Amino acid sequence: MMLKNGLIMFLDRLMNKLIFASKFYLKPGHITQIKSCPYCHGNNLKNYTKKREALVWVSLKQCQDCDFIFQSPRLSERGLEQYYKKDYRKMRRVPDFENNFSRELRKGQNYLNQIHPYISDFKNKKILEIGSARGGILKVFKDLGADVEGLEWDIACREFANKKGINTKVQFNELNNSKFDLIILSHVLEHVDDYSSFLEEITGVMNDDSLIFISVPGRKTFERSIQIAHLYYFTPESLKAICDKYFSDCLFINDNIDALYRREKSFE
Ligand SMILES: [Zn+2]
Repeated sequence: MMLKNGLIMFLDRLMNKLIFASKFYLKPGHITQIKSCPYCHGNNLKNYTKKREALVWVSLKQCQDCDFIFQSPRLSERGLEQYYKKDYRKMRRVPDFENNFSRELRKGQNYLNQIHPYISDFKNKKILEIGSARGGILKVFKDLGADVEGLEWDIACREFANKKGINTKVQFNELNNSKFDLIILSHVLEHVDDYSSFLEEITGVMNDDSLIFISVPGRKTFERSIQIAHLYYFTPESLKAICDKYFSDCLFINDNIDALYRREKSFE
């Protein structure tokens, strides 16, 4: 019986992969070639590495002028929309929400330990996580008395988080012009098509002394992090160069790559 279920699950996953690979290759409007560096706009690009995911080659290029690494060809804006709506969860599905929630709690504890030296008391602090998944990271801060809100596209994750008491919405315009003391972006920036506009938009919900914590896949996990959904492959240096344009005070950035910024330098 177990063997039969295992076989059915295997065939189901294989079918998903085949369907996805055919869609990926056959819909030209869903694929785009990136002809110049998204960071410095230089045209001097070379092939960096490639890896298969779900029968699709994920190819990375590196800019020879600034070393920035990114995926090309990759899903276009339209392709990404379709991918997140229909394929992403199916391809990377981990059905056990409780188990994932526990993993998020551990991650949240790790983030808390890193942020604690800069915010000693979280009571009544307003915290926004963008891409908040099942709400586990926010739960850690809520338990310390913080006033937390999440934004999450995936409806199943959103419903789960709301059941756990984590107030989760879909997009920015539902935030009622609130400003937040701390913004959390956990493994989000590498997915965002236009990270410049995205970071610009985030500054709109921050005060001058607000902090932003950003985590992206680190150097040690580079190989594992290569996937269709990851458009950009940051190093601490490239992430810093990008963040420095929007936030003026880098409190830390490490090899994992976790970074904490204050929007404006404080001169106390
Ligand atoms: Zn470049």
